[in-house]
Amino acid sequence: MNELDKKRQIIKYSQLFSTNSFSPIRSGNISIKHKRKDVEGFLISPSGKKNIELNATDIVFVSMSGEVKKNKTPSSEWRFHLDLYKSVKCNAIVHAHSKFSVICSCLFKEIPSFHYMIALIESKSIKVAKYALYGSKKLSKNILEVMKNSKGCLISNHGQVTVGDSIGEAYELAEEVELLCEYYYHCKLYKDPKIISTKEMNKVLEKILNYKKK
Ligand SMILES: [Zn+2]
Repeated sequence: MNELDKKRQIIKYSQLFSTNSFSPIRSGNISIKHKRKDVEGFLISPSGKKNIELNATDIVFVSMSGEVKKNKTPSSEWRFHLDLYKSVKCNAIVHAHSKFSVICSCLFKEIPSFHYMIALIESKSIKVAKYALYGSKKLSKNILEVMKNSKGCLISNHGQVTVGDSIGEAYELAEEVELLCEYYYHCKLYKDPKIISTKEMNKVLEKILNYKKK
């Protein structure tokens, strides 16, 4: 995919944030790994613009050393995108302030294995990265800590992050995480839900990973 196609993909999925009321107004950000000439980096949505109003010229290239062209302003949360590309194998990242991910990130320290579909993020639970100031190095470090063996997490008092081989995969995972958070929230309103055992979750993980390879 060339640079313009990747920019169009970022715009398409940023617009879905708005049209699906998935991540409100200017919140959330999306990036795709990209090599410009010989410089490795990624393309990311800009800072402070409404997701519904993005143009190709708004999308910013950030190099793996964190350099940006003078007149460009990437999302204020670009740092954890950079750190995730450096340490997790992925080609795209979706960060959203989706409703139930935000609610659960404020209420819980972890979403346990109450539903087998949690295995989609290749983990037995959805972990919650500790709170730190948005865009800070500290927050990036906290996110990396919980994303080492997982394709998704919540960020305390903030929202969620997912990664994927493609933007489509990362976005779909973000939708799955949001649904799981919604289910968990409603379960908890009633009582603590039953939890699937580690042994059973290992079986699910094995089955899901094999299924993906086909
Ligand atoms: Zn955010």
